[in-house]
Amino acid sequence: MWEEPCISGKNGSGTVFFTGCNLGCVYCQNRRISRDGDAGISISVKRLAEIFLELQQKKANNINLVTPTHYAVQIKEAVHTARDNGLTIPIVYNCSGYELAETIEYLGDDIQIYLTDFKYWDRQKAKEYSFAENYRAEAIKALDAMVKNVGEPEFDENGIMQRGVIVRHLVLPGNAADSMKIIGFLHRRYCDGIYLSIMNQYTPPIDAKLPEILRKSTEKDEYDSVLEYADEIGINNLFYQEGGTVSESFIPDFDGFGVLKTNDTVI
Ligand code: SF4
Repeated sequence: MWEEPCISGKNGSGTVFFTGCNLGCVYCQNRRISRDGDAGISISVKRLAEIFLELQQKKANNINLVTPTHYAVQIKEAVHTARDNGLTIPIVYNCSGYELAETIEYLGDDIQIYLTDFKYWDRQKAKEYSFAENYRAEAIKALDAMVKNVGEPEFDENGIMQRGVIVRHLVLPGNAADSMKIIGFLHRRYCDGIYLSIMNQYTPPIDAKLPEILRKSTEKDEYDSVLEYADEIGINNLFYQEGGTVSESFIPDFDGFGVLKTNDTVI
């Protein structure tokens, strides 16, 4: 229920978390599943398709694939199987932004919504925090491919997104200037062709070796200064978070809920 309002709506988004991630950010709040590898259940492509259909039966607004890229081939097959068996809701590709443009081209029409990060402008920070010095260059190429694939944002009569790109940017401690460079760039390049989601839910890691990120972003200066900048340059398509979001309440249990087969599977 905690995604952007046009993704979650009243019914919620049907999230499917994949074990592993193509980045390894030192501050990852989902590290149990993304980095540490101690959560996750092996399933078949057929079972994945069934899960998509079960989420649709539960009235989810969409299927929300979280850190999906290293399973792109299997996901494409599962989407085709699920579509053949009655899946009609949009597929959301919820990713780090560090993607190969070729992967996005490969996914083609099978993805309707990209919910993608744009994390860093500065090469050194990308290297220190996510071991991906070339993050910016790759993220721009991937984002160009995403916008080309899905086109302008479209919504249904209830304001739920059916197609489009939402770029998420998490404001990191001491990183407001970098955030402004990213936001300015995105606005110049895509204008109202995408939505921006500026986030303050940064949770300081317990064991990071970098002291500058062991604190939360200070809402009243760093986060607000980024929001004010977005307003100044005239960004219309914007989501932002209100106070009190820096907590562990956003972290799922990763207890396998919904992954194992139930009696009412539909394929
Ligand atoms: S991209 Fe997201 S899920 Fe992956 S390691 Fe970084 S913060 Fe975690």
